[in-house]
Amino acid sequence: MARVVLRNVTKRFGDHVAVSGLNLDVEDGEFLVLVGPSGCGKSTTLRLIAGLEELTEGEVYIGDRLVNGVPPRDRDVAMVFQSYALYPHLTVYDNLAFGLRMRRRQLGLSKGDIDRRVREVARTLGIEPLLGRRPKQLSGGERQRVALGRAIVRHPKVFLFDEPLSNLDAQLRVEVRRELKQLHRRLQATMIFVTHDQIEAMTLGDRVVVLRDGVIQQVDTPQRLYQEPANLFVARFIGSPPMNLLTGRLRSEGDVVRFETDGFSLSLPPAAVPSSEIGRIVLGIRPEDLSLAVERANNYNVGKAGRMQGRVEVVEPMGAQQLLYVAVGANALAVLSRSEENIQPGQSVPLVVRVDRLHWFDPDTERRLVVGTATLER
Ligand code: ATP
Repeated sequence: MARVVLRNVTKRFGDHVAVSGLNLDVEDGEFLVLVGPSGCGKSTTLRLIAGLEELTEGEVYIGDRLVNGVPPRDRDVAMVFQSYALYPHLTVYDNLAFGLRMRRRQLGLSKGDIDRRVREVARTLGIEPLLGRRPKQLSGGERQRVALGRAIVRHPKVFLFDEPLSNLDAQLRVEVRRELKQLHRRLQATMIFVTHDQIEAMTLGDRVVVLRDGVIQQVDTPQRLYQEPANLFVARFIGSPPMNLLTGRLRSEGDVVRFETDGFSLSLPPAAVPSSEIGRIVLGIRPEDLSLAVERANNYNVGKAGRMQGRVEVVEPMGAQQLLYVAVGANALAVLSRSEENIQPGQSVPLVVRVDRLHWFDPDTERRLVVGTATLER
């Protein structure tokens, strides 16, 4: 297994910059996920690591080796695509064995070695009973497992996955995701996984890289991405339902600070805001950090601070919880509430916000502001 290091990696297609000055250290044995909206440069980054695209600038290292200019077959990486790219006329066994047979001499493998490897991988993935079938006789999930097997059988240093689960139905995707995680634990392999699905990214990654227009926005553990998004883009992209974002102003008023926005104001303890001197600011509140005051508000360390009044517009049952859209002033806030509460559209409800979980952003730079440390004054 190996580390993968990208240094100032840039890829231009004509005038278009697909990837811009990327610096990334993927640890040996790490599961790293690249996530971002369509066109942000995820696949291009993966293809640059695989050697399927040529770098415009920068360096790519696999292990300690600079691989700029090294052809894909000599990089010791295995790539799994969204389209499984299996040979339709070959059996599962032959699909798994194909790459090893082609390079048998180079790898110093006997026919027996190849057979042992193919059967071992088939056992690992639970596809032994399918070895005699052809791809068209397999379900989508089984094909995906064979595609994975074809990568594993090569014992590569690094696995690269380009949206490998997106052709599967929702239930199967969850299943294969779990298998992939177990597989990663068992193989202790370096894996780099591309997806546009933030939930997939959060559930799979040891760390997640959020990309926008070819530029890294944040590299962090899933928990920190969620709890401390570095900017508004990450705050909007990570989390479902997404974070409520309100543009307003902070104003000092005696021993409280007021956040004022269209049609309502929220009174907050000074310790919960970056600085009461700040003018225009964006406040972020996750839907689960808002609760109906009729629910147990005692857990929330607030007196009068953090309370507001709203009117329920929409109720969406989600099983254990329900998602409410509550109009507060000119804003509609998403609120995750327990399902037991019998809430009807049109109802007027008191809301309490967890003042220890607020997120603050500079509306101009879009960067996160940290409570108590903000220095900007406008
Ligand atoms: P998706 O999720 O839609 O696959 P992505 O994040 O993987 O998107 P890339 O495929 O890496 O995005 O593409 C990044 C940008 O580079 C896009 O604007 C795309 O149009 C452009 N691009 C990719 N490949 C080429 C190419 N061969 N020639 C010209 N432009 C390209």
